[in-house]
Amino acid sequence: MEPELFQNNEDGRKAFSELGSKVIDWIVDYYKRIEEFPVRSKVAPGDVYRQFPDSFPAQPIRDDEVFRVLNEVIIPGMTHWQHPQFYAFFPGNTSFPSIAAEMITSGIAAQCMIWESSPVAAELEQRCMEWCRDLLGLPKNWEGVIQDTASTATLTALLTAREWKSGYRVSKRGFEGTVYRIYCSSQAHSSVEKAVRLAGFGTDHLVQIQVDENLSLIPEKLESAIKEDLKNGFVPTCVISTFGTTSTGAIDPVNEISDITSRYGLWHHVDAAYAGTALMLEEFSFLSNGLEGADSFVFNPHKWMFVQFDCTAYFVREPDLLVRTMSINPSYLATVYGDRVNDYRDWGIPLGRRFRALKLWMTLQLLGIDAIKERLRFHISLAKGIEEKLIKDRVLEIAYPRSFNIITFRIKREIDDDGRLTKQLSLEINESGKAYMTHAVVQERGFIRWVTGQTYTQERHVDEAWQLIYQILDRIISI
Ligand code: PLP
Repeated sequence: MEPELFQNNEDGRKAFSELGSKVIDWIVDYYKRIEEFPVRSKVAPGDVYRQFPDSFPAQPIRDDEVFRVLNEVIIPGMTHWQHPQFYAFFPGNTSFPSIAAEMITSGIAAQCMIWESSPVAAELEQRCMEWCRDLLGLPKNWEGVIQDTASTATLTALLTAREWKSGYRVSKRGFEGTVYRIYCSSQAHSSVEKAVRLAGFGTDHLVQIQVDENLSLIPEKLESAIKEDLKNGFVPTCVISTFGTTSTGAIDPVNEISDITSRYGLWHHVDAAYAGTALMLEEFSFLSNGLEGADSFVFNPHKWMFVQFDCTAYFVREPDLLVRTMSINPSYLATVYGDRVNDYRDWGIPLGRRFRALKLWMTLQLLGIDAIKERLRFHISLAKGIEEKLIKDRVLEIAYPRSFNIITFRIKREIDDDGRLTKQLSLEINESGKAYMTHAVVQERGFIRWVTGQTYTQERHVDEAWQLIYQILDRIISI
């Protein structure tokens, strides 16, 4: 007999309603208890795998059993990104409106590849991108599209730059021996190197430009590298600048880079994956000066804007160049609407698309911009508090200047000359399960990143994390 949950009839909907209520109760309970869980999962490789049988069940199992596995196997295997002591990587925040919106998106379960396949998905996406553009103070003539990740957006930017620079020849005839060169700082995210590789440029042709003491790209070095490449017969094609690097939050001088790219005819892509959100705060709006000279820009509402993964906002100055690179027109996707609509399959790599605009819209509707800005400022104030403590500390020091809510710190060189103790400190913080931070190495020196951007982090969490650090320090060094 077929399970009730497989039928859209009275019994099936009743069974779904019961299951749905249990799911909501489970999520509510998860948030109530989230601080009881170790932030980073304590399982060892293979532990979880071994607890699952060799095959799927032929017959349905009871949902009680599913919830048992959820609680006893799945939850212990999770790292809890919504735990207020999550300070690692960059946050992947959510909020209750975003969770609710994802439920509706799943409920409707549409595939939004072209306008006709769900007109509202396309038109709400267009509106949401305009709102985000204006909220961040990005140039009014830019248009945006939602993508899955910043990595995909950067690959999209490089493919567009490649086609634009080659007069749309590479996609047809291949590289024909021409060497196209791409530039970024030595601090750019690894997704840049990956995109260079996947777009066929060859990683030998990714030129890493030197940075200054704040880890920002030095424009003069960029210009010299471009000149040198021109002398050698290469084709300088694209500069990727970073607005908030992953290791330390450094900001490249976007304005000066735009001057150079326009002077030499290069594409300028700005990777603002994390820190782009800060541009909505009036006190940082000056940082958007010069963005009008860029060709494309990406930021992730799924990092620090309380809209959950996946939701990347990708903006371009000239959508026609993007569409010309990405569109392909088999007869079965042809529609009668032409230029009157945006078919977003032509604005990115995949054909199939989720209805991501719904969660962006619903989150911003139900939270409101003022509360979001307040929460961002609160996160930054937490980081400032840590910075003040570090400035006065006898054992710990700031590694690189604080950027927004990104703190980098390490044990002072006179106590930890080879960085081994700083590494041990980070391992012990994470193994404790009480907080989760990331160890990074820049210019051969290690440090710990402490990003105070989790939706629910409060002052007491930061204080507890500071105490944890000192409990570990007490043990590993004699203070
Ligand atoms: N760019 C920067 C500066 C990042 O910090 C990250 C991830 O942390 C990325 C790109 C990649 O983001 P995504 O996971 O959305 O591809």
